[in-house]
Amino acid sequence: MKRAIGILGGTFDPIHLGHLQPALEAMQTLQLASLRLMPNHIPPHRPQPVATGSQRLAMTLLAAAELPDVTVDDRELRRLTPSYTIDTLIELRQELPDTPLCFLMGMDSLLGLPNWHRWQELTEYAHLVVAIRPGWQPELSCELAEFVATHQVDDPLAVHQQLAGHLIWLQNQPLALSATELRTRLAQGNSLDGLVPQKVADYIRQQGIYRPAVL
Ligand code: ATP
Repeated sequence: MKRAIGILGGTFDPIHLGHLQPALEAMQTLQLASLRLMPNHIPPHRPQPVATGSQRLAMTLLAAAELPDVTVDDRELRRLTPSYTIDTLIELRQELPDTPLCFLMGMDSLLGLPNWHRWQELTEYAHLVVAIRPGWQPELSCELAEFVATHQVDDPLAVHQQLAGHLIWLQNQPLALSATELRTRLAQGNSLDGLVPQKVADYIRQQGIYRPAVL
């Protein structure tokens, strides 16, 4: 079996250190071979991101370029229709039959998991790695608590021993950052320096994304 890899999906509108820092901590703690950042395709009936798909991809590529073993997987953005995470994981499993997959998410995403399509099958294709996120407590509904109890393991390196099926609680440094807050900061004329990679901050400035007129 190969070494496990990580996958972090997100809207990345924009990508920020609240995404990258826990993901890098996961890479280190779980000794992941690599990490794929995967920008989402947003369904037309949902609130649309402020940045276009190509801008979100460009920002994600700029962030990844500075980080060793971090790449961007744009498969969901390239599709004309949104993909469910389960479908993406099934596709990745077919492409990487010997590689354990670790799907990373923040606590807010875990709490929303029961709304995801075929959510209980996610662990058939990947391990789940849940990062602490300020403002979100692990207050789980009954069905989620049962799911977590079935899958959680203490040893983060257990992800290398089987292809999928574990849930790991990442003991990351909590970072109180959200893309919503960053868009608000920009709309109010504040800078993002230190909150997103510098090249991402420069790109946002050059492209004029998130200016008040655009919001
Ligand atoms: P928005 O504010 O626009 O909803 P967001 O900052 O929550 O965006 P997303 O792109 O929706 O960012 O998040 C992608 C993934 O990253 C999700 O699993 C989310 O839980 C996780 N994540 C985002 N910010 C943090 C953070 N500060 N700490 C831990 N996980 C985070």
